[in-house]
Amino acid sequence: MPEEVNGHAHNGTSVEETGPESFGYFSAGPSKLPHDVMLKAQKEFLNYGNSRVSVMELSHRSPEYLAINDEAIACARRLFNVPNNYKVFFMSGGGTGQFSAVPLNLLGEGKTADYVVTGTWSDKAMKEAKKYGTVNNVHPLSKFTSVPDESLWSRTKDASYLYYCDNETVHGVEFPFIPSNEGDFANVPVVADMSSNFGTRLFDINRFGAVYAAVQKNLGPAGCTVVIAREDLLGKAHKFCPQILDYDQIAKGNSVMNTPVTFSVYMTKLVMEWVEHNGGLEQMEKDSHIKSTMLYNIIDNSDGFYTSVVDKSYRSRCNVVFRLKGGDTDLESAFVSAAKKSNLLSLKGHRSVGGIRASIYNAISTPMVEKLAEFMKDFQANHST
Ligand code: PMP
Repeated sequence: MPEEVNGHAHNGTSVEETGPESFGYFSAGPSKLPHDVMLKAQKEFLNYGNSRVSVMELSHRSPEYLAINDEAIACARRLFNVPNNYKVFFMSGGGTGQFSAVPLNLLGEGKTADYVVTGTWSDKAMKEAKKYGTVNNVHPLSKFTSVPDESLWSRTKDASYLYYCDNETVHGVEFPFIPSNEGDFANVPVVADMSSNFGTRLFDINRFGAVYAAVQKNLGPAGCTVVIAREDLLGKAHKFCPQILDYDQIAKGNSVMNTPVTFSVYMTKLVMEWVEHNGGLEQMEKDSHIKSTMLYNIIDNSDGFYTSVVDKSYRSRCNVVFRLKGGDTDLESAFVSAAKKSNLLSLKGHRSVGGIRASIYNAISTPMVEKLAEFMKDFQANHST
């Protein structure tokens, strides 16, 4: 019997045979990777650069792996325009590891950290930070459908840092701005979790103390977390900060202080090179605007058949979250099943919010989003009463 994968009989047919665009895969993470990258990795899989072994088998001290590591860092520096006073390094432990790493590295004794909580992930980060010191939620919200106006935030003047999540993957809320670091807050470094929108738009890294992204959404397979941190903030970690979470030690060790997630770093390098060769962040930003606008237009013009609860100015370009007929769960299940039959997979919303979520990261082409858009129109036409 063929095995079932995502509700489809899987009999070992390779994606090459079925074609990269034969199905849409809208998973929130781990997510679809660019087809060209997968083919390159497949080609190099058993014999990387004539080393006769796989990247998975290479020693992290081998010249081959060190070249991959250095190229990956160099590529990130080019892509994100990183100046010399910032370090770029790779960690493991995912986004959740950073919920601890950020306070352990940046909070300092007896100080306060400000958190902007706009969804599941910033909420988790704030709760983790509370273990290590004083934390101030600048504007507590009763629901996660928006970003509160910055003028309403109660910020701490001498906070160690201001933390926020640039794109809330579960609630589909994205920041259209970088929080202020002027006036009273000129010395408060801004720290951002960019896990689910890193690589989808340009941003000025000089406005940040540190940003991080777990790569399993836009940049690679699970495992690696990219961190970009301002040099002067390093070297002040809490005395109990585990070595493995210490930014300074990881940076000084050139991301090979201990055995890194080598294959994930290699894949991340390939995806970043793919972004560079496909128009860079400018093009990714244009594409993500086109793709997300297409879906939100259908939602907004559906006479309430589809609804998005997120305020229009803060709707995510990467995770389009919506309900059907105001939250008709039977109809939503029917939508997910019908979508599967049309080869549009992994559209079920996060279990905590329900509904539908279409994650349309960089590797999801505009024609594939067009297919989803057509499907949404047809589904509405067949289910409106
Ligand atoms: N931050 C964001 C924005 C996320 O979407 C996620 C995971 N979906 C995390 C943090 C946690 O990452 P991880 O599962 O790698 O710990």
